[in-house]
Amino acid sequence: MKEINIGLLGLQGAIEEHEASVRSAAKALGIQLDIHTVLLPEDLEGLHGIIMPGGESTAMIKQGKKSGLLQALRNKLEDGFPAFGTCAGAILLSKRVKRDAHSEITEGAFPILDQTILRNGYGRQKDSFAVKLPIRGIVDEIEAIFIRAPIIEKTGEELKVLAEFGGKPVFVQQGNIIASTFHPELSGNNGVHKYFLKIISENTYQ
Ligand code: GLN
Repeated sequence: MKEINIGLLGLQGAIEEHEASVRSAAKALGIQLDIHTVLLPEDLEGLHGIIMPGGESTAMIKQGKKSGLLQALRNKLEDGFPAFGTCAGAILLSKRVKRDAHSEITEGAFPILDQTILRNGYGRQKDSFAVKLPIRGIVDEIEAIFIRAPIIEKTGEELKVLAEFGGKPVFVQQGNIIASTFHPELSGNNGVHKYFLKIISENTYQ
């Protein structure tokens, strides 16, 4: 696919860095890219994939419920629509979400990724930190910046773990969906955004 329309979920959180990274990735791959901020159900029309940024997952859910965007997007994702979620975005895409270590498990807004994710899993001491990591088949090394990041505690069979830190998955893929608990868009390395554009190009969902 030489022309791709990509959506950036704009309910809450920072999308500028994703925008810059996906633009440079498209340029490097010779893809003509159109970027659309997604706020309402009708903004999903004509898109080939969506990026869900970091931020506050609860605020995103609150915003997205009112307009019907969450339900419309959930339907598309269940049909195989490609998505790339970072941090809060990864929480939204999880089948099982824990608010804290002792809380009950609830469903994410888009319960697709077969994983249990614990919000703010690194606690206060390690609120934000950076480590260098490889992501299998994607980049040899990336600066992985974690910001009040969740921890993926358990994964099911459908999920491929492509990067780990501290013995826990930090980058996963299930079909056309990729998710990281860190922020590739802040690393200055557009390898993950290139990988997402490749998933979209090879995707049969239209
Ligand atoms: N702590 C946030 C949440 O639970 C996620 C943080 C982030 O996206 N950087 O939604």
